[in-house]
Amino acid sequence: MTIVRVALDVPLPRLFDYLAEDAGRQDIGRRVIVPFGNRRQVGLIVELVAASEVPEAQLKAVLAIDRALPALPTEWLKLARFAADYYQHPLGATLLSLLPPALKRIKSPRAEPPAAYVLSPAGLAHLQDLSPRARAQLQLAERLRQGPLAISEAGTWRSHLRTWHKAGWVQPAEAPATAPTAAPARPQPTPAQAAAVATVLEAPAGFSAWLLHGVTGSGKTEVYLQLIEAQLAAGRQALVLVPEIHLTPQTEAAFRQRFPTARLISLHSGLSDGERLRAWRACLEGRADLVLGTRLAVFTPLNRLGLIVIDEEHDGSYKQQEGLRYSARDVAVWRARTLGLPIVLGSATPSLETWRNAERGRYRKLELPDRAHAQAELPAVKLIDTRADRPRQGLTASLLRALRDRLTRGEQSLLFINRRGYAPTLFCNSCGYVVPCPRCSAHQVLHRRKEGFELRCHHCGLMSRPPEVCPDCGSPDLRPAGQGTQRLEETLAGQFPEARILRIDRDTASRRGAFAAMRQAVNEREVDILVGTQIVTKGHDFPHLTLVGVLGADQALLSPDFRATERLFAQLMQVAGRAGRASRPGEVLVQTGYPGHPLYRALQAHDFAQFAAETLKERREAEFPPYSHQALLRAEAEQIDKAVAFLERAKHLGLALAREHGVMLYDPTPPLLARVARRERAQLRVQAGSRSHLQHFLAAWLEAVRALQERAVKWTIDVDPLDF
Ligand code: ADP
Ligand code: ZN
Ligand code: ZN
Repeated sequence: MTIVRVALDVPLPRLFDYLAEDAGRQDIGRRVIVPFGNRRQVGLIVELVAASEVPEAQLKAVLAIDRALPALPTEWLKLARFAADYYQHPLGATLLSLLPPALKRIKSPRAEPPAAYVLSPAGLAHLQDLSPRARAQLQLAERLRQGPLAISEAGTWRSHLRTWHKAGWVQPAEAPATAPTAAPARPQPTPAQAAAVATVLEAPAGFSAWLLHGVTGSGKTEVYLQLIEAQLAAGRQALVLVPEIHLTPQTEAAFRQRFPTARLISLHSGLSDGERLRAWRACLEGRADLVLGTRLAVFTPLNRLGLIVIDEEHDGSYKQQEGLRYSARDVAVWRARTLGLPIVLGSATPSLETWRNAERGRYRKLELPDRAHAQAELPAVKLIDTRADRPRQGLTASLLRALRDRLTRGEQSLLFINRRGYAPTLFCNSCGYVVPCPRCSAHQVLHRRKEGFELRCHHCGLMSRPPEVCPDCGSPDLRPAGQGTQRLEETLAGQFPEARILRIDRDTASRRGAFAAMRQAVNEREVDILVGTQIVTKGHDFPHLTLVGVLGADQALLSPDFRATERLFAQLMQVAGRAGRASRPGEVLVQTGYPGHPLYRALQAHDFAQFAAETLKERREAEFPPYSHQALLRAEAEQIDKAVAFLERAKHLGLALAREHGVMLYDPTPPLLARVARRERAQLRVQAGSRSHLQHFLAAWLEAVRALQERAVKWTIDVDPLDF
């Protein structure tokens, strides 16, 4: 009898042994169905063991081993194990959470026909010699040369495709998200691009981490493309991570155009379960050349991986905020190191962690100091002092004037404000009361709807009708306070009745495809003024945009979160980078009450290095990351006392261990948001000078914390937290 050790999605940090008569080493990494309690569960075989701690008579037998799919490779299991250990998450829960949802169900998924075909290298060679009389086949070959052909679009070509598949001239691929257009000419690289590519290609084989630091519009994508090209030519795979889902269609189109015959897999949380499974399967079966995806794609099983690229490496969306709280960037670096591969981290505003790694020589820096288009200059950044030029309805006279100029010249403007909704609060003009969310320690946000106004809580989702009179003093004089995207849109419409205004925020961009449609409207100049939140700050090319106005940025300067200025600077650099991307120069106007602030000075000079140096100095003095390593033990309960008492006990349990490992345990404190959906929250910060000390401490400490078994308290651990 063989004993298999199985990972299950249960909150216990342990594995479970089962008997499996016919199991062998080749089954490690395979899905199994096992009895668990009085139910059946899906698990993964992670080991074969000679003996179990459970007496053999008590071991249950596995019900089935799924051999329809290849076993997950050892490298993948190691990667998952690393993530589970590092982020202190149970191995079983980790492994199962990394599988596509369809594989977590008991029912084994149907084998699905491929969604599309691409030419194989053999096909590419062979189809040169088609008879000129085989018109349909010639057309099909021509069509395939432009990129993958979805079965749904194949029409009368279907039977040829089947035949060609048998002959090995085409191979299954994922359906293209966008129809291919003619492959664009490969641009002549700028000297900086050429140097960056050459430096990476000439580096000795093995692990190397590169920070591609390039100003907005410097053509980082072209550097990725050329590096990927070299990998594909050598028969290896490339994994490219991008921050957000709405960025993928555009990026995907660029990659497809460049590599029309590569089997490109796109992986993000917007896919249906079936699509996810198909993409995963293609990777697992070695039928992928290029994987493009959001953070979850870092865990794709790949057997010929040659290069990892992380675009916009500073982006917060690389950190998962629930379950396995991993940073896809950090996991990717670990993966590259373990596999001995190059990894390229690209950004105009690198995270300070990455920047410091580059300064210390752990990562090597590649600089793209200028914009790729010869005529495109970086925009001039000007500050509008709101103490002198007082905003009305959020807008200063200077900004209004600049907007009017652009309208007269037929150029586009973008107003950036990081607040969606109509106004951040509804307040009573008589007594100063502000309508709170009854369930959270936050104000409700006023939103405008077709039927009138509505209050919404951005934290728990509660929606309600605004009160008619002040709940506190009975006054009917309730007013919206402050600006949100909707109100700004309304004000602009009043100021510029002839302007075509488009609002882009999470509320307007949430539907699938909405973002692409908006981008197109902007590119085709059907829009004069864009009003948007940070959702517009990333990676979009708006060639006709010459003015960016920034409202409400000062907020972040006052935030108690030590990362707030880093995030603000990145956002402002990114949003400023939207202006003047083509031949016309751009201008950025920032409304601020602190025109002397060093952050704005560095922004004006486009000087990331300056900003980084100043901020790192502060971090060093405060012993904050990257000069220390942190973890947060978070607790929530119905009563705050329970959450705090739990953390006190946890702290007490850890004091001796902490001393031993040189780790600091702080007192429990309320997080920035102390109550959400009627749950009270508290947190305990753990800090250490060394990552490995922190790791050793956490492993030992959390074992003791788990034993506390406090039922009324829900707790989680966040290693390298980004939010407080
Ligand atoms: P980044 O990601 O660094 O902000 P992009 O990769 O989006 O910049 O490139 C900015 C613009 O410059 C794009 O329109 C791109 O097509 C163009 N571009 C990039 N490299 C070159 C080049 N070598 N020659 C001409 N145009 C280029
Ligand atoms: Zn009142
Ligand atoms: Zn709420």
